[in-house]
Amino acid sequence: MKPDLLAALRLTGAAVTSGVHLAPLSRWKIGGRAAALVEPDTPEQAAAVLRVMANRTEPLFVMGDASNVLFDSAGFAGVVLRISRRMSALRISGSRVWAEAGIWMPQLARRAGSAGLRGLEHTIGIPGTLGGLILMNGGSLRKGIGLNVLAVHCAGADGECFTLDQAACGFDYRTSALQRMRAVVLAADLELEPEDSAAIRRDMLAIMRERRAKFPQSLANCGSTFLSTSQMHATIGPPGRAIQDAGLKGIRRNGAQISPMHGNFLVNTGGATSDDILWLIALIRQTVKARTGFLMDCEVRHLAPDGRLRPAQFAADERWGDARLAELADAAVGT
Ligand SMILES: Cc1cc2nc3c(=O)[nH]c(=O)nc-3n(C[C@H](O)[C@H](O)[C@H](O)COP(=O)(O)OP(=O)(O)OC[C@H]3O[C@@H](n4cnc5c(N)ncnc54)[C@H](O)[C@@H]3O)c2cc1C
Repeated sequence: MKPDLLAALRLTGAAVTSGVHLAPLSRWKIGGRAAALVEPDTPEQAAAVLRVMANRTEPLFVMGDASNVLFDSAGFAGVVLRISRRMSALRISGSRVWAEAGIWMPQLARRAGSAGLRGLEHTIGIPGTLGGLILMNGGSLRKGIGLNVLAVHCAGADGECFTLDQAACGFDYRTSALQRMRAVVLAADLELEPEDSAAIRRDMLAIMRERRAKFPQSLANCGSTFLSTSQMHATIGPPGRAIQDAGLKGIRRNGAQISPMHGNFLVNTGGATSDDILWLIALIRQTVKARTGFLMDCEVRHLAPDGRLRPAQFAADERWGDARLAELADAAVGT
């Protein structure tokens, strides 16, 4: 990393570290080194970082908790702007919540529930930040965070700040217009519904119990790898079922494994690389396509060393798309 860039980033007041190992920062515990990691304490610092980067050629990647990102084991030759716990202020006023983008969703859901506000229970088990959840319109139980968003306070790639109302955010199933705008989420206003906090707590505990019974808990993973579509769901069921019916659960490549507990979760049993995960993604896609005709896309995004961020199937196809199914399957070691 060029010393003048490091110096300019430090002038923003954000914490700057050069040559950071990404694996410990990611939920999958996968990833090589990034040239620099920048962690702002305030929205103003985050916007200042964007202004610095607007005049540079080095790539920039904005992350929350990397619970939906596959970092490349070859690393990332750019600056990672991490909007996480250091930017997690919260204010509750009546049924309105204002929170900075780095707040951890389970914490936000719990704090809102304790204040007698219903609406975020479905996010209690999602280990990401508010900013990441808004960008992905994430949620569970057929809900998305967009349902409760009043306004999102953002900065553009040039560091200029602006506010979008719910309609302008273009929320749709696990996506939002913010992705196309390349907007960085700094904070958001949410509208929730007053309710008895004990009832909300009971619902959250029930949701957590159900998730613990369904999803792998102890091994590093990135949640659901593949997206569902309504047509696929109605015909062959969700991705986890399709992967199970294809007999793929438990298959490994080196340290990466298709979870024996839930087919849509790829776990790192130790030492997995991004290539191992991409290989399993290619195997699953090709096998399920051959059996059912449905070619599943990924919810998880891959960050290439040069800064390209794409749904992971593109990187998997580029790397393994030409491999014949039989070769992929022969090389797989079942458990
Ligand atoms: C065990 C487990 C269970 C999960 N269960 C669910 C679930 O039930 N439902 C669900 O929807 N998801 C689930 N996920 C996926 C993930 O938690 C969500 O997508 C989450 O919203 C991502 O948040 P993050 O902060 O980790 O974002 P990251 O993974 O860091 O980033 C995801 C995307 O958002 C962008 N981004 C992050 N922060 C910002 C910001 N402040 N401004 C602009 N862009 C930003 C990144 O550039 C990237 O494109 C699960 C993941 C795990 C590991």
